[in-house]
Order: sequence, then C-alpha cells, then structure tokens
Amino acid sequence: MNLHEYQGKEILASFGVRIQRGKVAQTPQEAVAVAKELTEETGTSWYVVKAQVHAGGRGKGGGVKLAKGIEHVEEIADQIIGMNLVTPQTSAEGKKVHQVLIAEDVYYPGESETSEFYMSVLLNRAIGKNMIMYSTEGGMDIEEVAEKTPHLIFTEEVDPAVGLLPFQARKIAFNLGLSGGAYKEMVKFVTALYTAYEKSDSNLFEINPVLKTSDDKILAVDAKVTIDDNALYRRKEYAAMRDIREESPIEVEATALGLNYVDLDGNVGCMVNGAGLAMATMDLIKMAGGEPANFLDVGGTADAKRVEEAFRIILKDPNVKAILINIFGGIVRCDRVAQGVVDAYKNMGDAIQVPIIVRLQGTNADLAKEIIDNSGLAVHSATLFKEAADKVEEVLS
Ligand code: GDP
Ligand code: MN
Repeated sequence: MNLHEYQGKEILASFGVRIQRGKVAQTPQEAVAVAKELTEETGTSWYVVKAQVHAGGRGKGGGVKLAKGIEHVEEIADQIIGMNLVTPQTSAEGKKVHQVLIAEDVYYPGESETSEFYMSVLLNRAIGKNMIMYSTEGGMDIEEVAEKTPHLIFTEEVDPAVGLLPFQARKIAFNLGLSGGAYKEMVKFVTALYTAYEKSDSNLFEINPVLKTSDDKILAVDAKVTIDDNALYRRKEYAAMRDIREESPIEVEATALGLNYVDLDGNVGCMVNGAGLAMATMDLIKMAGGEPANFLDVGGTADAKRVEEAFRIILKDPNVKAILINIFGGIVRCDRVAQGVVDAYKNMGDAIQVPIIVRLQGTNADLAKEIIDNSGLAVHSATLFKEAADKVEEVLS
C-alpha cells in the first residue's frame, strides 16, 4: 500500500528520523492556518507548498512551490489544490490534488552549501536481503542517474537477521563525501531510517532528496513509503492511512469482491484461477502477440456468480478487446465452471461485446467443452494452452 508524502514522513518521524516538518491542509484557508502553526513550532518564515498525490516528479509538474512569506501561502495553495497534476509518473490526464503539505523551507542559506542525496531502502527478493541504495546525485530522476552514471549509485546489502551494522552506516556517510558534523548526522539518519523501514513492515522507502542543510543537519525532504499489504492486519494505524482516491477504482471494487485483480495496459482480459496459472496465462498472451489487460485470480470458487462478477470487473476496462478464461478444474469441476460461464454470459445480455475464449482443463473437461460448444454463444472453447493462445491471436487480428 502506497502512502502520501506527509504520511510517510509521520512514520519516519515516529522512529526518530529527522524530516522537513510540515502540516497537511485541504483548503487554501486551512493552509494559512497551518502555516502559522508551523511558524510557531519551527520559526520558519518561508514555506514549501507540496501537492499530495501518489506520484513522484511533482516538482516538475508544478506541484511543489516555494512561498517566500505567509502572505503568499493562500494563493499558491489555491493554485495547487484542485489542479490536475501531470508528472512524468502520472498518466496524461494527471492526478487530481485534494490536499497540500505546507512544509518549512529547509534550503535556507548558511555556513556551508546545501547538498541533495538519494536514498532508498528496499527488499531485494533476488538475494533475500534488504538493500540500501544511495547516491550523491539526489533531487533528480534516479532512473536517469542509473542510466547515464551508474557508478554514482551505491548499494549496501543488509541481512535482515543481523540488521544494519554500525560500520555500514559509517561507510554510507563516507561514500556520500561527508565529514565532521554532517557525517555524524548521516550515520544517525541512516541508522534510524533502517530501523523505521524494518519496524514499520515496509517494503520500500525512497527518500529523494535527503538534504544536508547549510548548518549540517541531515533530513528527509521527500518520502515515498510502501507498506507491505500482508502486514496491514497488524499495522492498523497504517492501514487507516489508505487513500482510495489515489487507487485504481476498478482495483478497489475488485478487492471489495475478494477478487485478486491488477489493472494493466493491454487489450486481452484474463480470468484465471490461481496466481501461478494467471501469470503463465499472461506470458502466453504475450507470446501470442497480445498484451494482457489485467491480472485476475478468481480463486477457488468459479461459479456463475463469481464468473459474472469477474466479467463485470474486466469489462470496466475500455481497452479490453477479448477475454481469455483459463481455468484448471481440480476441486471445482470444469463442467460447473462452463455452466457458470454460460449462465453469466446469458445473464449479462448485451454487456459482453467482445469475443471470449475459454480453456477448461482438469476434471470433466470434455463435458465442459460440450457445454460451451452447444451453448450457441459467441464463446470459443479450447483444450490446449497453445490452442487458446492461437484463438486469442485469431480474434484479435
Ligand atoms: P517530487 O518532485 O515529487 O520528487 O517532490 P520533492 O518533495 O522531492 O520536491 C521537489 C523539489 O522541491 C526538491 O527536489 C527541492 O529542490 C524542492 N524543495 C523541496 N523542499 C524545499 C524547500 O524547503 N525549499 C526549497 N527552496 N526547495 C524545496
Ligand atoms: Mn522527490
């Protein structure tokens, strides 16, 4: 589950990670009120107004603006709240901004220069360890740094059973070119950051930029935090931070129905039982020259009601040009699934306007094929995996 920047920063701060402090506001008037409170707490007289949406690159899209005095806060907040923010990470339509974070300006002039670093903590499944990725090239697009100057990105592997060792935190501060007070601050920052990552059941922290202020403090200016969905049952306070306005409406609806659905960009809708078979089916569609429109695992009970719910979810995506149903009948018999497909199809009337290819394999597969073939509906049946793929290609061309 993804969080807003202000929520991610709240979590960081609760574990002692220093952050750029701020308060969230829903209206321009509230923005002024929280700016006043922020000044009382921090002494700041300049503010950064930051759009809160689940997408990075907000600065580039005009979603992060500096207010050089409280008199500018209302106008800037008014520009940002309600805008459709388009960034390199959103679709062309952008994302509607419902709230802004009013944060203290931390780029004030002082004894030394400010510097921006990049730092992320993430689970590296390939090596079964956590990993801290960091770079001196903060504040910019890290994908671009990775492409053009990969030698400027460092990684530190952390064994989850051992945790981050003190020498590793020191190595990171050293590699970032820090010395004196800033070096010590960075060691503290990295240590607290790793603890926060671990204790919050997150699987991604991305802090870009981590800032060294002109008076040598190290703090998080931005925060992208992803909490492991499987841990939300024991992190109720984080689960309550969910903002469904930021999520795909189809995915939210599918989750409510207990369907395991992920929205994708292609044109072939998939209805499959079992996550492994669903992934194999997506590969198959790609090999046949199509692109999957979704991942959908209907789970164990593929009866008419379930199939109909799945049809309705898949068909909400206007890009779907064909649907491939690939179900293995083990405990659930194929003939029952076939009858479910036929009943759901009849029930839905004109709602289904795209060709459907059904492959049922397992118990009573022959009977299932008969039911489909004799239904008189525009449903193509297939027995073999390859056959199903060829039919998808056929109906798409
Ligand atoms: P992103 O564009 O979505 O990654 O949002 P960030 O939170 O990273 O902010 C974008 C940029 O705004 C940062 O890289 C900074 O250059 C700038 N910025 C953020 N906070 C401040 C601040 O306190 N003062 C000034 N002058 N600039 C800031
Ligand atoms: Mn950023």
